[in-house]
Amino acid sequence: MTVEPYRPQPIETFQTPEKRQEMIRALAEVRQQFGRHYPLIIGGEKVQTQAAIPSTNPSNPAEVVGYAAQAGASEADAALEAAWKAFKTWKDWPQEARSRTLLKAAHIMKRRQRELEAWMVYEIGKNWTEAAADVAEAIDFTIYYAQQALKYTAKPPLVAVPGEDNESFYMPLGAGVVIAPWNFPLAILTGMTLGPIAVGNTVVAKPAEDTPVIAAKLFEILEEAGLPAGVANLLPGHGSEVGAYLVSHPKTRFINFTGSLEVGLKINEEAAKLAPGQTWLKRVFLELGGKDAIIVDETADLEAAALGIVQSAYGFQGQKCSACSRLIVLERVHDDLMEQVVERARKLVVGPAEENPDMGPVASEKQEQTVARYIEIGKEEGQCILGGHRLEGSGYFFEPTIFDGVAPQARIAQEEIFGPVLSVIRVPDFDAALEVANGTRFGLTGGVFSRSRERLERARQEFQVGNLYFNRKITGALVGVQPFGGSNLSGTNTKAGGPDYLMNFLHMKSVTERF
Ligand code: NDP
Repeated sequence: MTVEPYRPQPIETFQTPEKRQEMIRALAEVRQQFGRHYPLIIGGEKVQTQAAIPSTNPSNPAEVVGYAAQAGASEADAALEAAWKAFKTWKDWPQEARSRTLLKAAHIMKRRQRELEAWMVYEIGKNWTEAAADVAEAIDFTIYYAQQALKYTAKPPLVAVPGEDNESFYMPLGAGVVIAPWNFPLAILTGMTLGPIAVGNTVVAKPAEDTPVIAAKLFEILEEAGLPAGVANLLPGHGSEVGAYLVSHPKTRFINFTGSLEVGLKINEEAAKLAPGQTWLKRVFLELGGKDAIIVDETADLEAAALGIVQSAYGFQGQKCSACSRLIVLERVHDDLMEQVVERARKLVVGPAEENPDMGPVASEKQEQTVARYIEIGKEEGQCILGGHRLEGSGYFFEPTIFDGVAPQARIAQEEIFGPVLSVIRVPDFDAALEVANGTRFGLTGGVFSRSRERLERARQEFQVGNLYFNRKITGALVGVQPFGGSNLSGTNTKAGGPDYLMNFLHMKSVTERF
């Protein structure tokens, strides 16, 4: 098997007329396909259900992008059974053959790149470049995990003792459940599904209710790539129903979850209970929310800081787990920095995602309500110096919003809003900055803009996050380059896109023979 060295895909920014034309064509073609029905996929069979979940366009919620079949308990039972049946053979496929199947899937994703981007523009309101970054990350996960999986065929070195032969080797766990969020509807679903599959597990995947169509596209690709029936099963449905059922199911071997802290805690608790007939401890991987902070000190390049803050706070409308939602700034540079931040944020264009604005809509009516509620709370807790309104029209559009003078313990400085809302906290010095930065229950991403080597080195050790960035934006982790995952209540630090990720889905067996 020939393997090209892994390199992250370049992210298309649509600067040339050719690339813009390609996207306009893809958007038109995808629009032609609105309103189709997408089945469940269980053991390779396409299963329609009575009930259907409409997936709408957040830029224009009257438009139905597609309808997904809706799984319940009996379909969940069938999907787990199909996954265990497929496991019997998939676990014994040569690793090269499994990896080759993934590489083929990555190849098909590249072929369908513009189309996949267009689906995300419509289904979740990403602008073109955000959608391109999502597809590029999905391709990266697929290639990276296909390659990483090859290393587990090597047996770990052991210490030899006289009179015995000892060996250890890695084995897949079995059939697991993947529960994904809507905010990286292709990349995260792909990574969480194909990681375990790469090393011989099988999976039942429950995509988020808001993004079942892009999930269906991933499954079309897996089928075309030749992934055997039952290795990946698709079960869209309500999280609190089919998701919860899968979590507590005795046949679920592991749970790979990305989503909110609230749901993650429930899953952690339910998965710890031994269901009747269950004969293992479920492995649970939880990648959860954040309240991510950027610190700016008086030595910083303020222009670079303002750019990094605005990119991190408002990219995809602030709906990234890594988004900057707290700006912690030293008093001495507060006014100069805020002038530049406000200036940049004010210029952001908000509009329908298909027109490729800086900011599209927030994802759903539920997100709209949450963001609106926190903006009202913010008006009590801070001084609104930019935005603070939902825009007119049927799409879920908000102005980029900034609250200044926010106390470190204010709700808008502690709770994840997941929208285009930035809370600014002033501090007297760098000690206080680090204390405030660490003063939440989360620990996902963080950043520091400073020219002080000593402070950067201190932050390197003391800033309690899974992903820390100096003098750049805090979003946009690349697969293989910045393994991603939080600490504290931001998750189990699974480190998606990292060199150890696949180990989570393997167990080691040691065999001893006495001579
Ligand atoms: P949710 O926690 O609301 O939902 C995530 C998934 O869980 C969805 O598929 C949902 O289904 C399902 N679900 C809901 N309730 C249950 C339940 N009781 N049992 C099992 N499954 C359930 O998160 P969002 O989709 O709103 O995603 C945003 C969140 O994800 C943010 O907090 C964000 O920070 C976090 N996130 C974390 C990342 C990380 O790497 N740390 C990366 C990306 C996002 P349904 O859609 O039907 O409700």
